[in-house]
Amino acid sequence: MYDTIIIGGGASGLVAAIVAIKNNEKVLLLEKMPQCGLKLRITGKGRCNITNTLPLKEFLTHCGSEPRFLYPSFSKFFNTELMSFLEDLGLDVVIERGNRVFPASGKAQDVFLSLIKFLEDNDCTIVKNTRVTNLIVKENKVIGVETKPFGDKSSINKTSTKNFYASKVILASGGQSYPNTGSDGDGIKLAQSVGHKIEDTFPSLVGLRLLHFNADVIYPRLINFETKNVGAVVKNSQGKIIAKEFGDIIFREDHIDGPIILTISRQIAQLLGKEKLYLELDLKPAIEQKTLDTKLQSELNQRGRESIESTLRAFLPLELIYLIKHKTKINFSKPSSQINKEDRKEILSLLKNLSFEIVDSMGFQRAVVTKGGVSLKEVNPKTLESKLINGLFFCGEVLDLDADTGGYNLQIAFSTGYLAAQKHSQG
Ligand SMILES: Cc1cc2nc3c(=O)[nH]c(=O)nc-3n(C[C@H](O)[C@H](O)[C@H](O)COP(=O)(O)OP(=O)(O)OC[C@H]3O[C@@H](n4cnc5c(N)ncnc54)[C@H](O)[C@@H]3O)c2cc1C
Repeated sequence: MYDTIIIGGGASGLVAAIVAIKNNEKVLLLEKMPQCGLKLRITGKGRCNITNTLPLKEFLTHCGSEPRFLYPSFSKFFNTELMSFLEDLGLDVVIERGNRVFPASGKAQDVFLSLIKFLEDNDCTIVKNTRVTNLIVKENKVIGVETKPFGDKSSINKTSTKNFYASKVILASGGQSYPNTGSDGDGIKLAQSVGHKIEDTFPSLVGLRLLHFNADVIYPRLINFETKNVGAVVKNSQGKIIAKEFGDIIFREDHIDGPIILTISRQIAQLLGKEKLYLELDLKPAIEQKTLDTKLQSELNQRGRESIESTLRAFLPLELIYLIKHKTKINFSKPSSQINKEDRKEILSLLKNLSFEIVDSMGFQRAVVTKGGVSLKEVNPKTLESKLINGLFFCGEVLDLDADTGGYNLQIAFSTGYLAAQKHSQG
């Protein structure tokens, strides 16, 4: 019999386990994968953007539609507390551009190692390759979990079940994104099996697929080409603006990516596939259309003998010239002097409103977070205990919580893990 069982050894579960151990509890951490923290170790492109130093009010503007739910978690354990907590575990952190906090070593692995080392040094029972398949509930109180071995090893008898018992169970099993790290939606199903309402889930912070976009076909050098300071707007078929961002984008072979695309994907997650959406790129956002037209006209006149493509080099890198070339029938090889007004206006419109229909996102396989999850309405924000099942607590991405990129999602995982493990909140 344990005091607390934690389902999932990811970001939120590891912090929850440390807090429970510090409270002198007998803790069992169950992890389905052969290793804990597989996702944590690949965060921030291997550098782990741990948190963001924005003040609470501004921080919350990046945290979805129910930021009030997070007040109790953040008031107990916010960014400064997290940094001290990690430093106490021996991890130095640095603050970089955009208030983003990283481990000083630049290695996500070190964040994981600092957390797991504490647990290994402090008698936390960690059982890996073990999947929680059921919550054991008696008279509206959770009393334990049923598990099955998990993994590829042929020696594992996948049919044998083993039960573990505790007075408190914390569901820290993540969302559905990057399922090969172990977060494949199990936790959502477990919560649902004991009556919890699930808000529909969608891939979020994810690249977008565009109709007729294949960088390899357009111009192979466009693959992984990054362009800075672009305006991006998403409109529906009635022309209504759904999302608007300014910043950097990256063209991949079969989709479009980069910071503003990820942010946009979060804003349109629920609409994708339900209605037609169009992405409009403004490749020259610093210049108004009329001024740009005057400049374009003047360049085309001055470079009359050069090809249109060559003249456009005054405005765009070659990669983007190929991108707009692909969207028009205008012959870019003819001399600039031969361009007519209609063609010039079309080029102008491609520079300012390069439009693509959005076909889909890259899905859960490639999404940084899951939008949706266990409904917040049935979870007490002050304790993170279920309002339906005594002794059952939630933390991290299994909850209907998601945020922008910039360290916000890990702070949510760490803060909710911290609060869920508090002793006073035991049911
Ligand atoms: C590529 C990538 C980069 C990211 N970079 C950043 C970043 O730099 N900064 C940031 O703030 N956020 C980042 N995120 C998001 C962040 O990693 C997640 O929001 C965070 O890890 C969620 O923590 P969690 O504990 O809820 O879930 P997870 O970290 O996903 O952990 C859940 C754990 O539960 C285990 N589990 C699942 N089901 C069961 C079961 N039935 N039984 C036992 N165990 C189970 C899983 O194997 C997993 O180990 C990134 C995400 C991705 C995919």
